[in-house]
Amino acid sequence: MVMEAPRSLRKPLIVPHKVLMGPGPSNCPPRVLHALSQPVLGHLHTETTKIMDEIKEGIQYIFQTRNELTLALSASGHGGIEAVMCNLLEPGEKVLIATNGIWGDRAANMAQRYGANVIQVKTQPGNNFTLELLENALMKHKPVLLFIVQGESSTGVYQPLDGLGEICHRYNCLLAVDTVASLGGVPVKADEIGIDAIYTGSQKVLGAPPGITPISFSERAKQKLFNRKTEVKVYYLDMKILGDYWACFDKNRPRVYHHTISTTLLYGLREALAMVCEEGMNSVIERHQKCADQLYKGLERMGLELFVGDKLKRLPTVTTIQVPNDVDWKDVTAYAMKTYLLEISGGLGPTANKVFRIGLMGYNATPEKVDLVLEILKESLDYSRKHPKAKL
Ligand SMILES: *Cc1c(COP(=O)(O)O)cnc(C)c1O
Repeated sequence: MVMEAPRSLRKPLIVPHKVLMGPGPSNCPPRVLHALSQPVLGHLHTETTKIMDEIKEGIQYIFQTRNELTLALSASGHGGIEAVMCNLLEPGEKVLIATNGIWGDRAANMAQRYGANVIQVKTQPGNNFTLELLENALMKHKPVLLFIVQGESSTGVYQPLDGLGEICHRYNCLLAVDTVASLGGVPVKADEIGIDAIYTGSQKVLGAPPGITPISFSERAKQKLFNRKTEVKVYYLDMKILGDYWACFDKNRPRVYHHTISTTLLYGLREALAMVCEEGMNSVIERHQKCADQLYKGLERMGLELFVGDKLKRLPTVTTIQVPNDVDWKDVTAYAMKTYLLEISGGLGPTANKVFRIGLMGYNATPEKVDLVLEILKESLDYSRKHPKAKL
């Protein structure tokens, strides 16, 4: 050996227990952590494919859809955006991207890379879209796909979807919705709304680790996929091949090897979905909304101002708070992390340096955790005011 083994790897692995109250990941519940320590199995073993079938049913339940083409991608939430764009767009086709924060911009960037003709319809960060504005844009541009984010975690904005599927289909356009930050905090009814492509994150409300992304395509989206003139540009995310691996098309067709799925992540996701099923989706949503209300009240008592003024436009899972003029946001979040191992995040994209972001997701959406984060935020703000130049 020419090189010596690195010294760093001769030390033991040390991972602290932190309370993750930013916009994700959230803490995994103990039941999920236990599942993650089970033995690795082969990607085509019968025990594995049975778990995949159970996961598929769980995903259909959380999205409220009967879509056959429903599975979990071996990727984080970004993989969901990539999969929508590379499967549903062909070079030169028009995609309309509703942008009021970082996620619309990221989606536009990805769609461009697949050769699509990208058009963005925009509104102020902190605001959401009216049906009228979206319908006018559909009428004007005639895209084949509309992409919209239900929960803009960079701004803390909730986007209602009622009536949107109908309008899209009237203009011969597919509807794709990012529910990574919103699912579990607000109702998601894919079939009722008429959503054609939907995905969420494993590490937000669901409380599984990142890296395995639930996704589902409607019959309409499936038709588009099977009638493509060009091949899907990314083999790894090709829903036709993945759909075969997940037995989404024909139960009697043998499953084929596409990639080695992480059985570890499947166990974690399976247990996270099982916990949501036990609690019931409506109760999960109610719990998040109650906790958000408790948080708003506490923040207002502290004299803080929320970034999204209109309560109806607030996303219960991610709350954005204006950073007061007399503190540096970095000092505040650093104090909370250093003193209490609790994560509060700063802004992202259009809210960078302007807001704190507090996430109430899954295991952390409890009245106790809301009180805890309020208490720690208060102490961190007080400390930063008293020690304006403190270097933490
Ligand atoms: C977190 C998030 C993503 C990205 O998820 P990753 O798992 O970090 O790739 C996408 N969209 C929204 C709305 C998010 O909040």
